[in-house]
Amino acid sequence: MARARRPLDDYRGKRDFGRTPEPAGGAGPSSAGATRFVVHRHEARNLHYDLRLEHEGALLSFAVPKGFSDRPADKRLAVRTEDHPLEYLTFAGRIPEGEYGAGAMTVWDEGTVRWLPDDDAAAALREGELKLLLDGRRLRGEWHLVRTKPDERHWLLFKSKDRYVGPGRDAARRVDLSAAPRAPLPKRVRRAEPAETVAPFTDPERLYELDLDGRRVLVETDLPPDGPATRGATAARIGGGPRGASSREASAARGASSREASAARGATGVRFRGLRGGRAALAPVVDALALLRARRALLDGVLVVQGPDDRPDRALLDEVLAGRASGDLLLYLFDVLHDDGLDLRPLPLRDRKAVLRDMLPEDPGPLLFLDHVVGAGEELARATAAAGLPGLVAKRADAPWRGGPTDDWSRVRVPSADATSRGSVRERLRLDADARPAPRVSNPDKLLWPEDGVTKQDLVDWYAGVADVLLPYLADRPVHMDRRPDGIHGKAFYQRHVTESLPDLLATVEIAGRDDPAPKPHFVCGDVASLLALANLASIDLHPWHSRVGSLESPDWAVIDLDPKGAPFAHVVRLAKDVGRLLRGIGLRPLLKTSGKTGLHVYVPLAEGYGYETVRMFCEAVARLVARSRPEIATVERSLAARGGRVYVDFGQNRRGATVVPPYVPRPVPGATVSAPLAWDELETDLTPADFTIRTMPDRLAERGDLFAPLLTDRQELEPALARLEEVVRDG
Ligand code: MN
Repeated sequence: MARARRPLDDYRGKRDFGRTPEPAGGAGPSSAGATRFVVHRHEARNLHYDLRLEHEGALLSFAVPKGFSDRPADKRLAVRTEDHPLEYLTFAGRIPEGEYGAGAMTVWDEGTVRWLPDDDAAAALREGELKLLLDGRRLRGEWHLVRTKPDERHWLLFKSKDRYVGPGRDAARRVDLSAAPRAPLPKRVRRAEPAETVAPFTDPERLYELDLDGRRVLVETDLPPDGPATRGATAARIGGGPRGASSREASAARGASSREASAARGATGVRFRGLRGGRAALAPVVDALALLRARRALLDGVLVVQGPDDRPDRALLDEVLAGRASGDLLLYLFDVLHDDGLDLRPLPLRDRKAVLRDMLPEDPGPLLFLDHVVGAGEELARATAAAGLPGLVAKRADAPWRGGPTDDWSRVRVPSADATSRGSVRERLRLDADARPAPRVSNPDKLLWPEDGVTKQDLVDWYAGVADVLLPYLADRPVHMDRRPDGIHGKAFYQRHVTESLPDLLATVEIAGRDDPAPKPHFVCGDVASLLALANLASIDLHPWHSRVGSLESPDWAVIDLDPKGAPFAHVVRLAKDVGRLLRGIGLRPLLKTSGKTGLHVYVPLAEGYGYETVRMFCEAVARLVARSRPEIATVERSLAARGGRVYVDFGQNRRGATVVPPYVPRPVPGATVSAPLAWDELETDLTPADFTIRTMPDRLAERGDLFAPLLTDRQELEPALARLEEVVRDG
């Protein structure tokens, strides 16, 4: 039957199928069964994501320049482009130079889409308001597309409020789930158990977890997709079943608020395999599970009640579950087997734990992620004994999940310690800086800063002391090392990638280069143990990327580096004031720190989703304005000769893979100086960066707190600033 409208005419008209590998399309009928969607990551002239939705035998296509945010407040522009043929659902390849859309096209997500409310996509398209229920590997839950007037092509894409709402980062799970097969949630699995019990040992391939004295449970969830994004709604939602609750039922449920009532309803959405009774005591745990960022999940964990001495008390737990005693149940979760239709069991344990961590709600209540320490089994065993806990479980980090007794897990018995030396178990369970084992420091007396008498032990101690403040600036970022095993005057080994010669103590992530598609392993430093392992390798300063794993193309901040190379520091101060004034003048709230050497760094924390190129161009405009207004002391010329003794206003660090030292890392220069955050009113000509050293900084930190903390929270939009910057440029 001839159609009045031929949806693929535009598509075919733009392409030469003799040159592009893209499919011409057979205008085939829509597949029976579920309607599909695909998201392509398209590295065209401007990187963007193409959302393509199956509809009437073709793919409705939207180009989304800034990608997807899981925070409903983030409205992302989506530009409707020409319909694509259904064959494009599986297309990936490189469109050659000179052709339409030249660049690499990869499948970033795929899955099924349901049109809400009634699958009448044609009407919704006419009305200019689409609601989609996506079930992909990365994108999940309900999304909203709203056409903006007057432009027919411009739509806004944003997340609807449901259980998949997140903290406003990339919508994607941070772990690549492409290796997880689609499968229904398994009905029966054998519980994994350690095959052996052994004495403490150290193995860099193992994750060490505390062995808690409680009841192992497998938790199965079957939660409604539009589930609660807040705790208050929990009781109402959990009884509804998938998309089942009418608003009347929901409001009736909301009215009943006793724990018993919500627990009874919870039976329909959360099931504890292998556990009978205890529903009343479990109600707060069930409420918290209803907030998971997944509908269908199978989780492994252990239920615990703390006794009067703060240690898990198994006997009291049984009494509480039986309703004969009261006590607050905690559910420690340590593994996930199934995640919304994806079988995670083939994935390595460390990836499963990363998925689990992402799945927990922002306000987890009695749900706790059972954290681990990588490698340092003997040290952790000593801390565990001191805490009066029974032992550890050492699990192979790379192993897939296997049920039953498994050699991938070993139970580690620890010698019992004198009860009087036990610390607070609550503290120990948090595996905080005190409980975490320090690595055995090799060559502790090695003088790294010989003039200052600062040793490698001092370096490790510095990092241990500052870990709580520093780690948030490193977490999830690829980190480059600058190793100085012979001290600051010795040979330097700058390491971007993990090489064979290093101990495998640290988490790594495979990252493909911009020009080199072969992925290389990079370090990721997310915990105290990793930080101290780096220090033990004499990596004096650490160099994190500006972007994080999961959103590597999108820097979290803009940075301008004022680099004097011999120019007077007073000039650096002068220019930092200029940069600060200019940025504040266009509505931004910049942050300032010393480089730890002779320069200053100005940062602007950014809302998510800006590409490196955007950020670099913004910084370039700022740098050029400032340099132009003080040509006698500032330059944007990189080469030392061209600088002519002027301060280099460097905007070029805003690129993928470039690094700038974070606050609180020491620098390999005499004085053992540290990159120190500053308040803007400290910026005066008598400011002396050499005053901030690993000896003086602890007092300053105690007194001033972390002046750089807004870097992680005060995330700012660039668009209004760009508009005002244009005005500044125009008005001279
Ligand atoms: Mn495209």
